[in-house]
Amino acid sequence: MSSSGFQGGFGSSGGFSDIFEDIFSDFFGGAARSHERPQRGSDLRYELEVSFEEAAFGVEKPVELEREETCSNCKGEGARPGTSRRPCAVCHGAGQVLASSGFFSISRTCHKCHGRGSFVDHPCGSCAGTGRTLVERKIQVKVPAGADNGLRLRISGEGEAGLRGGPRGDFYVDVRVRPHELFLREGDNVLCRVPISFVQAALGAEIEVPTLAGASTLKVPPGTQNGRTFKLKGKGLASFRGHGIGDEEVHILVETPTHLTDEQKDLLKQFAESSGDKVNPISQSFVEKARQLFSGKKE
Ligand SMILES: [Zn+2]
Ligand SMILES: [Zn+2]
Repeated sequence: MSSSGFQGGFGSSGGFSDIFEDIFSDFFGGAARSHERPQRGSDLRYELEVSFEEAAFGVEKPVELEREETCSNCKGEGARPGTSRRPCAVCHGAGQVLASSGFFSISRTCHKCHGRGSFVDHPCGSCAGTGRTLVERKIQVKVPAGADNGLRLRISGEGEAGLRGGPRGDFYVDVRVRPHELFLREGDNVLCRVPISFVQAALGAEIEVPTLAGASTLKVPPGTQNGRTFKLKGKGLASFRGHGIGDEEVHILVETPTHLTDEQKDLLKQFAESSGDKVNPISQSFVEKARQLFSGKKE
């Protein structure tokens, strides 16, 4: 009963509750009222896909989009050209009315025109009185060199037109970089896995390595192991934030031959017999460590 007493007082106290209603209607009507005032245009977002190379070197791409523009026929007024907006008779164009209740005087949104202050009797034929029309636009988007996947570009003022003289929104471009078949990006460095034959790995070779700037030669020394990394200085990406240029890391992948002929198999067997364990230093040390491990466990 204690709570119902409070509710009764709130509802039945005449003028007092009226003021509250005024305040609340004004408060909650705030959103509706803002629709009638100059309003900033919406931001637009676009996902732009570029190739690995385009992101590396930078690219300029045209982007086509549909956006709301100020109606050129009525200049955004909403009234048919040659006619004008009729001022609201209740608020005389102010959009606000002063409501008095006892000692209080509160400015409220005009209920007749919803704050706009005027009416359109003859709506513009192009925009149906809204003041904006949907227009196709082409925008040149500049993707900077070194742009990474997920980079967001902001193009100020290229969003939708504002309403009733409000400012334009912005245009955001989210850059998506397509993965490359040969290169992987790590910061400003480019990683590339380059396969070589076990013969090249054993004897050493001069191999051709792809880089963003074209083919480059790399000297692989004799006895190169699988997974060895070589650095090609300055063959990476230009730093998007201006920290110089990255490197390319070449990861060597020693390939095991497949589909051998009988003759080739015989040659390899001969090779294995003639060489023994001495030519495989990693295997040798591995076997020794494993042997020590097992003999240690038995003790
Ligand atoms: Zn119009
Ligand atoms: Zn009004």
